[in-house]
Amino acid sequence: MNSTFRPILVIGGGIAGMTAAIEAAEVGYTVVLVEQAPFLGGRVMGSHRYFPKMCPPTCGIEINIRRIRQNPRITVHTLSTVEEVTGPAGDFRVRIRKRPRYVTGELSLDESVAAQIDSERPDVGNLGMTTTKALYLPHEMAYPHAYLVDREVLSEADAGKLHSIVPSSAIDLEMQDDEIEVEVAAIIVATGWRPYDAARVEHLGFGRYPNVITNVMVERLASANGPTGGEIRRPSDGEVAKNVAFVQCAGSRDPDHLPYCSTVCCMASLKQSRYVMEAAPDSRATIFYIDMRTIDRLAKYYHEMLDEERFNCVRGKVIQIEEDPGSGDLLLQVDNTLPGEIARTCFDLVVLATGMVPNSADSRLPLDLEYDEYGFVDPSVKTPGVFPVGCMLSPCDVSTSTKASTAAALKAIQRLSGVATGE
Ligand SMILES: Cc1cc2nc3c(=O)[nH]c(=O)nc-3n(C[C@H](O)[C@H](O)[C@H](O)COP(=O)(O)OP(=O)(O)OC[C@H]3O[C@@H](n4cnc5c(N)ncnc54)[C@H](O)[C@@H]3O)c2cc1C
Repeated sequence: MNSTFRPILVIGGGIAGMTAAIEAAEVGYTVVLVEQAPFLGGRVMGSHRYFPKMCPPTCGIEINIRRIRQNPRITVHTLSTVEEVTGPAGDFRVRIRKRPRYVTGELSLDESVAAQIDSERPDVGNLGMTTTKALYLPHEMAYPHAYLVDREVLSEADAGKLHSIVPSSAIDLEMQDDEIEVEVAAIIVATGWRPYDAARVEHLGFGRYPNVITNVMVERLASANGPTGGEIRRPSDGEVAKNVAFVQCAGSRDPDHLPYCSTVCCMASLKQSRYVMEAAPDSRATIFYIDMRTIDRLAKYYHEMLDEERFNCVRGKVIQIEEDPGSGDLLLQVDNTLPGEIARTCFDLVVLATGMVPNSADSRLPLDLEYDEYGFVDPSVKTPGVFPVGCMLSPCDVSTSTKASTAAALKAIQRLSGVATGE
């Protein structure tokens, strides 16, 4: 096949990968989009609202899903990973492994079916703070909007029950992995990020004290479809958190953890401080920071926050967190750098602003890419026909990530069209 007519492969169906797929398909190119999760959207699907506009993730994602659903040039493979890539740029042969959903899609299922089984699994979408049944819809906005079965946790009794309550054409528990091969001309890689493991920053108490949580958990707590129905409640006693501390650089810019800055955490904590203040008229938020990294219109957001009476920013490093075992409150010891003194302050909830780790740090794709010591792809080493984007290259926000995706789609199209760019 002439490479002009071969598809572009996009690996990773988060906002970056979706954007790249849409940009290429809407100007006439065919795209194969491979996502390892059961649905598209990536980490943004777990957010409550996104800065700077503070709109819900539905804004961007819903439109993108519609554009993908309506575009016959995009083929989506969820529950899928790329196992092997051979051949030169322009003529890549790709082997894709598809894991079984165990739900055939021939009949629609709903919660009334899931409610009849007992087997449960941690809800990954809620970061394990809740559970779902082993037959579950992974997200209310999931695309494809389809149930699946977690075969590993489904008990034999529940397997039998499913057989008796749904027609055999709806669920096939014997489904196996499938493999397909595609020939593609170019590959865009957008496998994104995961949060740094906060438990490794031992002195901050995550995993030891229930009321020390992380920034990604706050996104779920604040979401109406999250574990607390949108209220930021303390895990220890379910009380609404009224006095919340945000600890910046929890493991970031630290040679023992992540020496780099994740660039979004300052804005994320400012945004989440607003969630806290909006929740109750007497709630307060305090951010402890090394330096506040916001630029352009994000700096405006920061300066507007500084005018808020119930918001406080303290330039200081949190040295230690201790729990009052009776109340579950947390005592922070802070090296308060402006007056140059050690301060002690009490809060009822502490949020650790942990950084972003590229998924490629511990799970490498079968592609000839160069990585730095933290697992980010080294952008200075070009691999012909392969275009990494977004948080694979460095931590970034949605706007940066999607701009890079549009650029990558254009570069992939240039390769298909024979425009000599050297990439
Ligand atoms: C606490 C917090 C709050 C934030 N809030 C905001 C905000 O308000 N506004 C903002 O602009 N940004 C925000 N961000 C940043 C935002 O989350 C990222 O910019 C965004 O997720 C980047 O999208 P992505 O598609 O590059 O990566 P991801 O969202 O991580 O998507 C990557 C996708 O690739 C898939 N994948 C991974 N590996 C493979 C593989 N091997 N094969 C196939 N698929 C794979 C994943 O399952 C996932 O679907 C925040 C970040 C944090 C930490």
